[in-house]
This record gives sequence, structure tokens and C-alpha cells, in this order.
Amino acid sequence: MPRKLVIGNWKMNGTIASNARLLREIKDDSTITELKIGAAAVCVPFLHVPETQRILTGSALRWGVQDISAFREGAYTGEISADMAAEFGTTYAIVGHSERRLYHGEALTTVGVKALRAIQASITPVVCVGETLREREDGAARETVETQLLAVLDSLPADQMHSLVLAYEPVWAIGTGRSASPQQAQEMHEFIRRLLRTRSESLADTTILYGGSVKPAAAADLFAQNDIDGALVGGASLEAGQFLDIVRMAA
Ligand code: 13P
Repeated sequence: MPRKLVIGNWKMNGTIASNARLLREIKDDSTITELKIGAAAVCVPFLHVPETQRILTGSALRWGVQDISAFREGAYTGEISADMAAEFGTTYAIVGHSERRLYHGEALTTVGVKALRAIQASITPVVCVGETLREREDGAARETVETQLLAVLDSLPADQMHSLVLAYEPVWAIGTGRSASPQQAQEMHEFIRRLLRTRSESLADTTILYGGSVKPAAAADLFAQNDIDGALVGGASLEAGQFLDIVRMAA
């Protein structure tokens, strides 16, 4: 079985100094120094990217951003383009996180365009999909995930789709301490993989991460599932010990 991918999403936390300490603690641990390059990454606040690049250059730990603009360049006040992020050695860009869909009104097609912008800048988009609690209770979880996923696939030229990483993040599991059970996660991952296969056999090999209250205690069971290729970790990625434990379990 190939190694799992573990990506931390730091969200809007920390200061330059505290995050630099966290990065050093993570990167100097033998878990990382013995790691295959690219098997773990942290997505940091934009303003912390230059310092992150300085600290992590030469480490196996990669870095990414938590969003990028749907526009290429120009009069878009406050936006950061994929090309700008790429200038700092950025490997990943999270796009379509539920917090952006919810608090910033990101539309389905916007997420697709952001994924395309990332790919055009040689950044791997980590596209998040996932249903709300209401949608799950209404039996509409699959329909929601399918709609979100197809909106992204329809935005990408066929020869660019293979650059995607997907993350299934049920909204009800994010920051709630209530992870999806390994079975619930596996069921949705299998469904996503089936959808990918309808586009092409090779697209079914896309890396699909699970996200939502991933903690060391639950990680091994999640990683044991056939269609779970790793984790997108929020809260636990802010604690070096917990993040490293999860990375170790992904071996
Ligand atoms: P938590 O791990 O804090 O639930 O966050 C998950 C998440 O949103 C990762 O993108």
C-alpha cells in the first residue's frame, strides 16, 4: 500500500513566532527527517508563507496555502493569485474548504476555477467536498458531494484532472471533536472513487484524504480503510506531537 498523505490545515491561527516554533518542532523530528518528500505538508496563513519557505526548504515537509484567487491577476483587491503563491515554493492550495463555502459564499463553479488556477501555477489543489449535518440527516450526503465534485471536474480540462487531491470533509465533523466513523468515511470515499472512475479508470487513482476531527487516536482506523489515502488535519496539526503521531500512523 502506498504511503498516506497527511496535510495540516492551520487555518487562521498563530503568530509568525509561534508558527516558526511549531514548524521547527515538526521538521526536526525524526518522523519528518526520515520521511519521503511530499508525504506530509502544512497549509499556513498567507502571510506566514515566506517564513515557512525559509524554515522548510531542504525538509521533507512541504507547505501550502489555504485558498487562492479564482482570478489570474489584476484589479481584485485583497486577493492572492496562484502564481504569487507559487513564487514561494508552494506545493498545495486548499480550495473549496467548507469554511470558505460557508463564510465567504464560494460558489460551486468558483471552487472549480480555483482548482484550475492552482494547476495552471503547478500547485496541487486540495479540493474539499462534504455535506452538512442537515444534508446527512436528510439522506442527501452523496448528492451534495457529487454536486460539489462534478462542479470541479467540469471546470478542468481532461488532461489536468489528474493533478487533483480531494478531501472529504463532512461539515458536521469539522472542529466538533466528532469524526466520521471509519465506515462512514470509507463509504463516502468509495462513492467518490466510483464517481471518478466514471470519468476515467486512471482518475480513480486520485488521492482522497479524509478531514474532520482527525486525532491520533482515530487515525489508524481511518488509514486502514481501503479508499482513505490520508488526512487533512485541522486542530491536531497545531500541536507538533499530535501532528507527528498522525504522520507516523500514515507510514
Ligand atoms: P479539524 O481537524 O479541526 O476538525 O478540522 C478539519 C479541517 O477543516 C481540515 O481542513
